[in-house]
Amino acid sequence: MNYLPNIIFAIALLLGLGYFAKNVKKLVRNIKLGQDVDVSDNTSQRWKNMINIALGQSKLVKRPVSGFLHVVVYVGFIIINIEVLEIIIDGLFGTHRIFSSVLPTSVYGFLIGTFEVLAFLVLVAVTVFWVRRNLIKLARFWKDEMKGWPKNDGNFILYFEMVLMTLFLVMNATDGTFQEMQSGNIISQYLAPLFSDSIAPVIERVAWWLHIVGILIFLNYLYFSKHLHILLAFPNVYYGRVNNKGQLNNLASVTAEVKMMMDPNADPFAAAPEGAEDEVPAKFGASDVQDLSWVQLLNAYTCTECGRCTSECPANLTGKKLSPRKIMMDTRDRLEEVGKNIDANNGEFKDDGKQLLGDYITNEEIWACTSCNACVEACPVSIDPLSIIIEMRRYLVMEQSAAPSELNNMMTNIENNGAPWPYNQQDRLNWKNE
Ligand code: SF4
Ligand code: SF4
Repeated sequence: MNYLPNIIFAIALLLGLGYFAKNVKKLVRNIKLGQDVDVSDNTSQRWKNMINIALGQSKLVKRPVSGFLHVVVYVGFIIINIEVLEIIIDGLFGTHRIFSSVLPTSVYGFLIGTFEVLAFLVLVAVTVFWVRRNLIKLARFWKDEMKGWPKNDGNFILYFEMVLMTLFLVMNATDGTFQEMQSGNIISQYLAPLFSDSIAPVIERVAWWLHIVGILIFLNYLYFSKHLHILLAFPNVYYGRVNNKGQLNNLASVTAEVKMMMDPNADPFAAAPEGAEDEVPAKFGASDVQDLSWVQLLNAYTCTECGRCTSECPANLTGKKLSPRKIMMDTRDRLEEVGKNIDANNGEFKDDGKQLLGDYITNEEIWACTSCNACVEACPVSIDPLSIIIEMRRYLVMEQSAAPSELNNMMTNIENNGAPWPYNQQDRLNWKNE
């Protein structure tokens, strides 16, 4: 018996899975560069969110057309990959359609028939996606941050899916044994006549190999692509924010100080409230990725670059420079840069004179935000671009005293007068006497 194909298959499988595992390790290391944050609260709500939002895609279907098509691709792609299990067993042990010999023909036919219908639907859906992106040119896919790699990445994913689904159908259509079963060849029976008996066995082998090698390549492509969200959407939604939108993570120490300032009867010598002193951080806010929390870094790797956030952002819609999608893309790019720096310097980060704020995200962008939360509400995978913007503003205000002059005036007034206006507290009621 010729074991060469099995050996080649085992090597390909090991290489594919090994490289993927290596990148997963790097991914986890990079996410852990973020600050620790306690996300052990509201466990039941978190599970509910994961089931509704990540698994049930409840936020995606708010835009019915793209939502429905995405559900088709998602369900189809996941279910069809059950077929990969059979391919792996066949590849390793030299069997052919092993499940057809252990399952009744009708059950096997039902399974493969379902996969074929799903493969066809996925093909239709990704074709529509491609048309929306490239021919109809939906505005959110043509913003400035989507030029170059992000645009190509979006298309490569669609091409990958088209090719994999086509190979699956061709593999079935050219498999004489499967076609003779007359069960499950719902779509492939129409393709079968395209291949003559003499060429079909060769095409079947070629499609079979390309299909599994293509899946391994696609698996490894994930790390470099926005498509990583198919894996990270689940943990990201679970660890996403569960408190009320609009609630900022104020520092207890700062809140205590402000309250004391606003209260004319406050005792300036009173002890700080419990926890307030412990909470004073080494650095206020964030200027680089290591200052953000690991959940914010997980957010960055999970972003699908769908642009729903940007398409609802009032700052972006009114022509400001801000795009919440770009905030997430920049955070990921900088995190990748920091990760590569660590890899190149034996596990230590060597100062490269760059940081997220300034080199990737400008002050103009972050001050354009109205903190309305529309981006958070729109995101289908519970990403919170606003939290990153707030952290960078906090850094500028509290570490750099570099707020825009309008804000500085207002803050000085609050500090001096207890109100945003430039009037002494004693003059507040002067209007009454005029
Ligand atoms: S919170 Fe800021 S970034 Fe998000 S939608 Fe509103 S203005 Fe845009
Ligand atoms: S942050 Fe969310 S809504 Fe915005 S592009 Fe990324 S995935 Fe889409």
